[in-house]
Amino acid sequence: MHDLPDTHPRAASLRLRYTIAEHAKTGLVAETGPVSHGRGEAFDYILGEATPAPVMDDIRAAAALLLSAKWPVISVNGNTAALAPEAVADLAKAIPAKVEVNVFYGRTHEREKMIAEFLASRGCGDVLGVDPQARVPNLASSRGSVDKDGIAKADVVIVPLEDGDRAEALVAWGKKVISIDLNPISRTAQTATLNICDNVVRALPALAKVARELKGKQDEIEKLIASIDNAKASKRIFAFMRERLARLEEEMDRRKKG
Ligand code: ATP
Ligand code: MG
Repeated sequence: MHDLPDTHPRAASLRLRYTIAEHAKTGLVAETGPVSHGRGEAFDYILGEATPAPVMDDIRAAAALLLSAKWPVISVNGNTAALAPEAVADLAKAIPAKVEVNVFYGRTHEREKMIAEFLASRGCGDVLGVDPQARVPNLASSRGSVDKDGIAKADVVIVPLEDGDRAEALVAWGKKVISIDLNPISRTAQTATLNICDNVVRALPALAKVARELKGKQDEIEKLIASIDNAKASKRIFAFMRERLARLEEEMDRRKKG
């Protein structure tokens, strides 16, 4: 691992970048995975690399939806497996939910197996999605493959990092889809039942923590689910980004005059 002092202002972000780069070498992360990561980094920079206050509400609502599900599934791609395998395992235990490998680029048996074994080695237990037999309706190519005991059966699917087409197809299939996507403009974020605009490395542990707090509080869970409104959530995150950019601009102006 690279020598990076904790005092470096971008230390946390750079460590994630190195993690993605290391796992791209082994093939756990797809060839295009580092590019997707970079797109996420840019949005995370705008957020201030912290979970925005309004997103905490979305995390609570998402945890409630997962807790209320009959067959909740966490869909994991290469980037998520590389960045947050323990957090996936912990969320799977907290709900409890099934874990399914679901890669949208470079889907081969070897890669499915590699990701599943990596996740299992980090505490995810039996991981679904290796040689999956079921299909997402109206989704061509290997991206449409899903496990018959996982996403095919699920009522609620959480997709940390998802392709827009597939998020749309899952919603059309009648699944409730929670996405975690730093880009609030992406089709995934816009078509999900609820998008969590945050980095997977922060959102997944936060979801597990909130799920444990909410467990058994049926009234609160129902209220949170009734409050889900992705269009409203999206407006709040746009407002947050606008305000933060305006504040940064003012600070820059002050420094220049300074
Ligand atoms: P769509 O097809 O939904 O419009 P896209 O083409 O913009 O999405 P891809 O590049 O296919 O997106 O997938 C990567 C998405 O995941 C990006 O929107 C990026 O912001 C987001 N992303 C990348 N890394 C992270 C991360 N660590 N946490 C959360 N989101 C991330
Ligand atoms: Mg895409």
